[in-house]
Amino acid sequence: MPFDNTSSFRRGSRLAPSAIRYAYRNLESYDTWYKTNYPDLKIADLGDLTEEEDATLVVDTVESLISQLKADGKVPIMLGGEHSITTGAVRNFKECSMVIIDAHSDFRRSYFGNLHNHACVTYRSLEILGPGRIFSVGTRSTSKEEYEDLDYSKVRFYTSREVDSLGMEKIAEEIDKKARGNIYFSIDMDGIDPADAPGVGTPEPYGITPRQLRVLIGRLAKRIIGLDIVEMTPLYDNGNTAMLAAKIIQDFLGNRETR
Ligand code: MN
Ligand code: MN
Repeated sequence: MPFDNTSSFRRGSRLAPSAIRYAYRNLESYDTWYKTNYPDLKIADLGDLTEEEDATLVVDTVESLISQLKADGKVPIMLGGEHSITTGAVRNFKECSMVIIDAHSDFRRSYFGNLHNHACVTYRSLEILGPGRIFSVGTRSTSKEEYEDLDYSKVRFYTSREVDSLGMEKIAEEIDKKARGNIYFSIDMDGIDPADAPGVGTPEPYGITPRQLRVLIGRLAKRIIGLDIVEMTPLYDNGNTAMLAAKIIQDFLGNRETR
């Protein structure tokens, strides 16, 4: 979903799907850990959705497409585009829990008069899923307004410092225990440290590592029934962010195939 109209700082995430596809095609085909031969998997690339200007229209379009995929028993992997598109997917997973990787709380009720600004996606998701069902990991950037929102405690924000002190194994175990139902997994690439993922719209230091993310995905993979990777922008990338995004997809697929 190549959409980046509400991005506040560095745009270019509309170009990410192409960059991630290009990187994916350059990954090797066999994984000795999962014993998975990736070309054997039944995956299909549906191509890009048409670029639109209006965030509300984009969210509705995503909702309708994912609804069809879900009804067909598919596991959607959506490449953004910016984080606002996630809301369209989440509307199809009302009975699920949600795990978000993000540097930001994205907990504004609206931003610049727009309910579907990318800074609002966690709040929009809370409206859909309700309290106790959303786990956001890697948080290290918020505003006083968001932090003091009476609903803030209805989402479990694992800060970047907590990831350091508790360890990702512990957090993954806790989420696995507390999450109800299946899991929708949304990866805002800025949740990862800018050293590992420099090509993002709003970089924030002190992020989680790709290995920590792999631990979390590994623990939850079998319960994940939808995934998105958003906020990557090739305009600021040295190539590593696109490659990491591609590898995350492959790793998710490998995890689902085994165990
Ligand atoms: Mn975000
Ligand atoms: Mn973010």
